[in-house]
Amino acid sequence: MTTKLKTLLFCLYCNKETSHTIIYKGGYLEDIKCNICGNEIRINREKLLETYTADFVDRVLTKPHRLTEEIKRDLSQFLKSIPIRILTKPYRIAREIGDILHQEKDENCS
Ligand SMILES: [Zn+2]
Repeated sequence: MTTKLKTLLFCLYCNKETSHTIIYKGGYLEDIKCNICGNEIRINREKLLETYTADFVDRVLTKPHRLTEEIKRDLSQFLKSIPIRILTKPYRIAREIGDILHQEKDENCS
């Protein structure tokens, strides 16, 4: 069963709160997409468990009965903290951010 919800969340690429579509499949969050820039994050629960505690993953990813302010805050916080390697699809924007980080690192070294 797939459930689509629209909500305001923080988008890393827009760098502000934007309208997002979040998709729950089988009771778990599977996909978060920014409706403004189109950036999409596909959620892989197994990979998340390597980084986050099961408590946190279940709290953030389990389909809520309703989207409370607390859940939205958790989701925004989660989007800000998610390591790029967890994303299951490579994104042009993610690569560009990676390039910028590498450039800064190189400059610091020289
Ligand atoms: Zn965006």
